[in-house]
Amino acid sequence: MIDPAGVYFTWPDRRLAYTCAGCGACCKGLGIGLDVTGGQLAQLVARRPDVVPFLRRRGEATTLWNPRDRCWFLADDGNCRVEVEDGRAAKPAACRLFPFNRVFTLGAITVVDYNSVICPLVLDGPAPIAHADVLAELATIRDPAIVGVTLPAEAGGEAMLAAERADAAALQARAATPSDAPGWLATAVGASDDEVAGVRGLLDALGLAPRPLPAATRAAALALVPSLRFNELWGPRQYAPRAVVRPRLTAMTLAWLELAAIGAALAGRDLGMQELTTLWSEQAAVTYAAACWRDVPRLKPGPLELPGSDPGGVVRALGQACVDNRKAGRTLGAIAAPILAAAAPVDRATALKLAEPLWRAALGRG
Ligand code: SF4
Repeated sequence: MIDPAGVYFTWPDRRLAYTCAGCGACCKGLGIGLDVTGGQLAQLVARRPDVVPFLRRRGEATTLWNPRDRCWFLADDGNCRVEVEDGRAAKPAACRLFPFNRVFTLGAITVVDYNSVICPLVLDGPAPIAHADVLAELATIRDPAIVGVTLPAEAGGEAMLAAERADAAALQARAATPSDAPGWLATAVGASDDEVAGVRGLLDALGLAPRPLPAATRAAALALVPSLRFNELWGPRQYAPRAVVRPRLTAMTLAWLELAAIGAALAGRDLGMQELTTLWSEQAAVTYAAACWRDVPRLKPGPLELPGSDPGGVVRALGQACVDNRKAGRTLGAIAAPILAAAAPVDRATALKLAEPLWRAALGRG
């Protein structure tokens, strides 16, 4: 039984909702997590022995492989045949939890995260999901591979997670009283004047004017922040060690909000949570550069890791400038702004993304 006091939910209680329209997006090619300890594998094999060749091991878990097009059990009408024929309790554990099926543990803390890419979650829709309901569902599952994938143990990791939890609560408290006053958004995400200036510096270098962030997009984005931060810290991207990335997440968030405002203006409508999540991932190299705009990049002399395509030689120029910067100690902004200014407008943002390996090597190593 998970102690509720030790759970960090990466979304605000009773704010996220979804109406399952049977799109089946969650049932396509993901593999299915089964509550093996709770007997679900034995039950499934007994009822449907043809699943046996499609079982696989994933770390400590046994999962059922399914084709990318759709799960074996997804019916043409969008319903789950396991649920329809055998009842909801027989439905694979990960499917019952979805989209709140990303459960991790670190020391005494359990993190419950969600999938905001695949599931069309909305903020403040009908029948919002309560943390207590997710906990009740988790209590029915016994397999530790489903209810607690262990995060890497490292010095300070649990304290960092506890700090993320506290920061998330503070952010949601600030977000509860939104304002259109200038600078409110920066205050809401806890950005300092330096961080604001760094983000502005990068956007200026890209020739991007600030746009207003529509209220609904802003609310959805702020609700997403804790989850995005958690995944940036403990997900696979890893621009730098966690302790180095964490202080840069606020500026990354602010840069992402600026890009979201530009996206909303481009689309002429509010952006949803799925779009905002993918925007974070797609633009991470740019927002990380924004977060490091006032840092000093340095590279050792030697072959540069360059992309196969480097229009205008912008990445090469950035890399060489980082090598030449070993003694000069200039900031990324001081180095990159003139290089970007001399580049064709279409090459500027693409170069910042292509330079991702450079950011890993030259920036934010602590
Ligand atoms: S078992 Fe049911 S809910 Fe789970 S992926 Fe297959 S069709 Fe979807």
